[in-house]
Amino acid sequence: MLPCRSCILLLGLLLSCLHVAAAARAAPVSVHRPDGGATWHSFKQLLDARRGSRVAGLGELKRYLARFGYMPKSEHGPTDAFDEHLEVAVRRYQSMLSLPVTGQLDSPTLDRIMAPRCGVGDDDHGVSVSLSASTASRGGGGAVSRFTFFKGEPRWTQPDPLVLTYAISPTATVDYLPPEAVRAVFRRAFARWARVIPVGFVETDDYNAADIRAGFYVGSHGDGIPFDGPLGVLGHAFSPKNGRLHLDAAERWAVDMDAETVHSAIDLESVATHEIGHVLGLGHSSSPKAVMYPSLRPREKKADLTVDDVEGVQWLYGSNPGFSLSSLYAQDAASMSPGRSSWLGGSVSFVCAVLVILATHL
Ligand code: ZN
Ligand code: ZN
Repeated sequence: MLPCRSCILLLGLLLSCLHVAAAARAAPVSVHRPDGGATWHSFKQLLDARRGSRVAGLGELKRYLARFGYMPKSEHGPTDAFDEHLEVAVRRYQSMLSLPVTGQLDSPTLDRIMAPRCGVGDDDHGVSVSLSASTASRGGGGAVSRFTFFKGEPRWTQPDPLVLTYAISPTATVDYLPPEAVRAVFRRAFARWARVIPVGFVETDDYNAADIRAGFYVGSHGDGIPFDGPLGVLGHAFSPKNGRLHLDAAERWAVDMDAETVHSAIDLESVATHEIGHVLGLGHSSSPKAVMYPSLRPREKKADLTVDDVEGVQWLYGSNPGFSLSSLYAQDAASMSPGRSSWLGGSVSFVCAVLVILATHL
């Protein structure tokens, strides 16, 4: 017969299991609204178009794919024919965005194409490094790194220690956000990168003299890459050592998504962290969880650097002596599961099942 103390212990474990399982079920599930970019919303009519067909709007899609580096720009204006070049471009896009590679305009592909994204092209970077061997040796399970760099691997260089100044434009602003709230967001975004690489970021009031200059701009704003209004392109930044980081002022930017009620709001910290990655020399990553993945849905928050982001930026600048990647491996492993709460629920269920078997057999 089971000793009484063990009975109590077992009962306590079972009760806590039920409590945790209930909490896991009650945890809010994040739901992404299929808003997509207002600019690209008409692509919806292209669903299931495939090679050999001719559908109004395919020419516009070709412009989109050419803009972001998936096919050459057409000299005479693209046609609405779904030709082999478009199929190749769609396959390339699907591969880069880690979608099923079908060569067809299926629902996952169009959903991603219509989602808001960064204005930096996916071909602006020429270097992709596989760290699978070294990652495996450090306990990363052999996951292939997906990060990229701009062509030529440009980076900021300066005598040690490397310290970059940054400033938020006092004039290129959005009127509904308090300047101090914007500064606080950028402070947190820079701190995320400074934690992992031996690079310091110091805010300065001298906007013109700063190494990194950030601001909100509408439409054409002097760099030849006009913004497109709400959603669509959210922002862009330039490779080292240019230092310009521009955000589309037409977006509804949120500094606190929990308090934001606009359903198409964009998380400022997520985009700021992403664009700082470009300023440091990173290109886009094909890892969907990475901060450097090119697209971000309305209300989505993705400001935590993943192993892929960190390995990429450390390839350029080295690691901070006090930083260890091991904590991020656990974080990534959890986030790669079907859902953190469902993963937790599954684990709890497993432990509970074992306890119930023990209880009935002892
Ligand atoms: Zn980008
Ligand atoms: Zn710009």
